[in-house]
Amino acid sequence: KPLLKNQEHILVIGAGLCGSLLALRMAQRGYKVTLMEKRPDLRKEIVDSGRSINLAFSDRGMKGLRLAGLEEQVLPLCIPMNGRMIHNTAGELFMSPYSGRNEYINSISREDLNIMLLDECDKMPDITMLFNQKCTGVALETGEATFEDYKTQQTTTYKADVVMGADGVGSALRKSMLDHRKFLFSYGQDFLTHGYKELSFPPGADGGFLVAKNALHIWPRGKDMMIALPNLDGSFTVTLFLSWEEGKDSFESLNTDAAVLDYFEREFPDALELMPDLLKEFKENPTSPLGTIKCAPWHAYGKVLLLGDAAHGIVPFYGQGMNSAFEDIDVLDKYLNKYEGDWEAVFKAYQNERKEDTDAIADLAVDNFHEMKAHTARPIFQEKRKLEIAFEEAFPKEYFSKYALVTFREDLRYSEAMRRGRVQDKAILNLIHDGKFTESMSLHEKLDLVKLETRKMLHDD
Ligand code: FAD
Repeated sequence: KPLLKNQEHILVIGAGLCGSLLALRMAQRGYKVTLMEKRPDLRKEIVDSGRSINLAFSDRGMKGLRLAGLEEQVLPLCIPMNGRMIHNTAGELFMSPYSGRNEYINSISREDLNIMLLDECDKMPDITMLFNQKCTGVALETGEATFEDYKTQQTTTYKADVVMGADGVGSALRKSMLDHRKFLFSYGQDFLTHGYKELSFPPGADGGFLVAKNALHIWPRGKDMMIALPNLDGSFTVTLFLSWEEGKDSFESLNTDAAVLDYFEREFPDALELMPDLLKEFKENPTSPLGTIKCAPWHAYGKVLLLGDAAHGIVPFYGQGMNSAFEDIDVLDKYLNKYEGDWEAVFKAYQNERKEDTDAIADLAVDNFHEMKAHTARPIFQEKRKLEIAFEEAFPKEYFSKYALVTFREDLRYSEAMRRGRVQDKAILNLIHDGKFTESMSLHEKLDLVKLETRKMLHDD
């Protein structure tokens, strides 16, 4: 359907992943867009975003890019990861595929993806991009947003028909909504006891990968965990998730080279061999917090709207923060198709559907923190995964694990994926624990048992 040529002016705050795709889509719909970013243009200057270097990119994110016609462009930036490669302390490996249907997620560089999106924005005559412009506040009722130029400190106010805040976890628009005090604004921020630090494995001498390329590597250690995602140049970005101060090993206690080395020798000996710069990186790279942000409403006066991390910051353990931000744009687009011309109606319908789903993925991501650091190493969990993969291979249309429901079923809302997935997980674990799967049973009989138990539990729910 041809899109309306609509010359209303939208101001998007934040040219990160969500903001740049949002600006592009709004311009494709015919709006005039101004995209404002506090950092310099990362295509011209080296910018330390302070955020993860690479990300797991999967189907829901692709849905957002497809909407903007970017599916082909993004593929060369992707490294497929077919499963979790689990490393134990003896250096033994266990590959746990993400799916029995050959589904996979991708490792992608945040910077490359952001550059690709900014380049696409550049091609649109109706998008104006301004960098080094830090939003300091938004007048919600009038749609006036004030920016301070990072270099000159000069302050400018822009007025737009609609202001969209895609300015991340520290959102200036969200702060203006919190400070506004003319309507009830709920806001909650929950930090994990763990923080994270990025480290790396360099590429091999021949530019190859020093551990398997097509996997997300995990060193689950019960209380803490390390992961590694591949980069196109043969290196891996390694992320250590460790408690801030609790327990024997923490960011607080690892305060000397000897303590860091002792910890890595004990917990990650196979990884240590691949980390020539460990001590330097451990000292120089920041340790950052991990938190969940929930707030409501996301919109006010039919004038302003929050999207992406600004509306729903989540912990990274389902690899869904960016993916859900891109899916936001797909959902918004659906309601624009329905109610275009009435921003209040669009925003209300959007939040009505979307809030329940982003709350769900926020909770699932916290669950997965515990699952990844502890459960992936447990025999019962590995038995469950083996059975699930066998179900998915043999009956690809009948069985979807919780992970598959969340990650690969882009047609299913997060809230529904959570409801079904949680119950199904509990059902299988109970059946394994109670010894209900016997040797003589066929795989389909086992699947029937899981379905029956799941149905019963969903009904009781
Ligand atoms: P951001 O990427 O934070 O972008 C916000 C933009 O707004 C930035 O460019 C910022 O400079 C700009 N800005 C901020 N304030 C202002 C202001 N006042 N004025 C103007 N501009 C402003 N997600 C996944 O899908 N998969 C993963 O594997 C994954 N791994 C992660 C690992 C870690 C360690 C972390 C921390 C996050 C991870 N995420 C992952 C989440 C993902 O990074 C975010 O969900 C995603 O970046 C959200 O995009 P955004 O555009 O909403 O916010």
